[in-house]
Amino acid sequence: MPVGTAATVKGITPAELVQAQTQIVLANTYHLWLRPGRETIEAAGGVHRFMGWERPILTDSGGFQVFSLESRRRLDDDGVTFASHLDGSEHRFTPENVIAFQQAIGSDVAMLLDVCVKLPAAREEIEEAVRLTTAWARRSAAVPEASGTLLFAIAQGGLDERLRERSARELVDLDFPGYAIGGLSVGESREEMRATARSTAALLPQNKPRYLMGVGTVADLIAAVDAGCDLFDCVYPTRCGRNGRAMTRDGELNLFNAAFTRDYGRLDEGCSCYTCTTFTRAYLAHLFRAKEMLGPRLLSYHNVYLLNALMAEAREAIERGGWAAFRDRAGV
Ligand SMILES: [Zn+2]
Repeated sequence: MPVGTAATVKGITPAELVQAQTQIVLANTYHLWLRPGRETIEAAGGVHRFMGWERPILTDSGGFQVFSLESRRRLDDDGVTFASHLDGSEHRFTPENVIAFQQAIGSDVAMLLDVCVKLPAAREEIEEAVRLTTAWARRSAAVPEASGTLLFAIAQGGLDERLRERSARELVDLDFPGYAIGGLSVGESREEMRATARSTAALLPQNKPRYLMGVGTVADLIAAVDAGCDLFDCVYPTRCGRNGRAMTRDGELNLFNAAFTRDYGRLDEGCSCYTCTTFTRAYLAHLFRAKEMLGPRLLSYHNVYLLNALMAEAREAIERGGWAAFRDRAGV
């Protein structure tokens, strides 16, 4: 899922997202709640119409953003009160009102409000996050359904296997349509992230979507698919795209590198996207050095296209029974 935090995938039009084989995008409750706000999006006819995107949209609950605010939020058993990063105004999220918001704007997949802990953290802190995440999930399960909006729960537990087990078991008992693995990519090492993603994915139902949050490099995606995960989101491809960093199957390229200024080859030999079939590395390097807005646009498009193509190939490999060979070739 390309990330469209503020109901836009930065620098890429919905038509281009479709051309890049994007099936679903992610938008963010925290950001849309603060700006433009629920009423504006509802009056537009929902978030799909508002942003001109007809395919599915998953909205994050905003839990991750609120807990990143640290000193600007107060947590209690009922919910969390926080100060807007935009103007300091006070807002409150509860399990019920974040679902109501996501239903009101017409999200296809709404994430439950969870408590996300930055790592490293004390065991007591992680245990408390698991306890509240489950309590909030129980309240979320009692919210009346809105047609067209599925609720996904988010398993927490840091890097602690027993807490992960407890979180997953308690949430699975509530029988949600899908599950996410949260609380990773928040300060732990890559090896720790992969190991916990793998053990947690194994605790979640195989017949439901398993969504690993915050992952988006080529190597991490292959490892996560290998662990049984189905859905991913990350700002990484578009953030790299804006900063001159090209993702390829064989690693990443920095277009500010002097070697590219006279390199008339394709950006990525293995990619058939518009950027790669039309422009040279030298031209793209020039756009970034000249601070032309087309550079970030073309590179963000390539990075999103590349990850979509990679996942399409992964699905195809799984379907024909060739996953292990595909994974090993990808070099993870
Ligand atoms: Zn490309």
